[in-house]
Amino acid sequence: RLISLIGIGLFALVGAVVAYWIAKQSLRPVRHLSHLAQKIQVQTLDQRLPAEGPPDEVKELADAFNEMLTRLERAFEQQNRFVADAAHELRTPLATLRTNLEVIQRDPDATLSDYKEVSGVLERALTRLEKLVEGLLLLAKGGREIQTEPVEMEVLLSEIVQEAKILARAYQVEISLDISESVTVLADTPLLGRAVSNLLENGIRYNRPGGFVNVTAQRTLNGVEIRVQDTGVGIPLDAQPHIFERFYRVDRSRTREQGGYGLGLSIAAHIVHLHGGHIQLKSTPGVGSIFTIWLPTTGSQASEEPQT
Ligand code: ADP
Repeated sequence: RLISLIGIGLFALVGAVVAYWIAKQSLRPVRHLSHLAQKIQVQTLDQRLPAEGPPDEVKELADAFNEMLTRLERAFEQQNRFVADAAHELRTPLATLRTNLEVIQRDPDATLSDYKEVSGVLERALTRLEKLVEGLLLLAKGGREIQTEPVEMEVLLSEIVQEAKILARAYQVEISLDISESVTVLADTPLLGRAVSNLLENGIRYNRPGGFVNVTAQRTLNGVEIRVQDTGVGIPLDAQPHIFERFYRVDRSRTREQGGYGLGLSIAAHIVHLHGGHIQLKSTPGVGSIFTIWLPTTGSQASEEPQT
């Protein structure tokens, strides 16, 4: 009996050692991967884990990790480009501020009216800066920062149309609003208002004298569709895929004159995506454009990446 007990004990011991050794051997590739993954830094996001070998769980893990690295790398690249573009756009109004201040300070004969003229220029540059910074802050908003409440479309859209009337008069454009039924969505009122008014203001600014902008809202299967249709200049076909990109402008010189940074549509798209919706464009150059926002009536919040 004693020999049997010792035998069983020895057998169990050898079994445990062998099991441990086998487990250690089979986990070696995982340890190797985790060792390589630990070495990847923000600056070396272009590195990938070796994913050759048989199609087993280890390869699956390496593939999943590599895909995550690709997504992270793309996000970092976008972020860097965004920061560079933002800095570039900030430079112009800042340079205007500095140049004007330097010129007036160096002029010993500057009169009160010269100072008043410069103060007007500085105020316009400051307004541009404020607009840009406000746009950047909006684009930095994440999904958790929005506060939704039931929003009656007719109330919100009537207010936006009313506010846009002054601009419309200046551009000699007519605005109309058609809402056939009562539609309520869960939304962040100021943000949704901002998205629609960006579309409406574009419809007015990129229109022709005597043109029209029509705003409609209607219920769909499980959401609401807001359409802003204009009889404006339209958007060239080659520009349409880029239209929701940050800082994208069709005609840089013309829109800069009108005060645009190419952020209006990307802000609208960002807000719509924060609400779990999507935004679409149909445009015919020379005829006009139709921007359509679809929002879920359930108010579910979705991805922060534009899927236009
Ligand atoms: P911006 O502030 O420069 O207007 P947006 O992001 O709002 O920037 O628009 C990007 C570009 O798309 C604009 O430069 C303009 O050329 C074009 N665009 C936007 N909306 C319209 C529209 N309704 N009709 C024609 N062009 C438009």
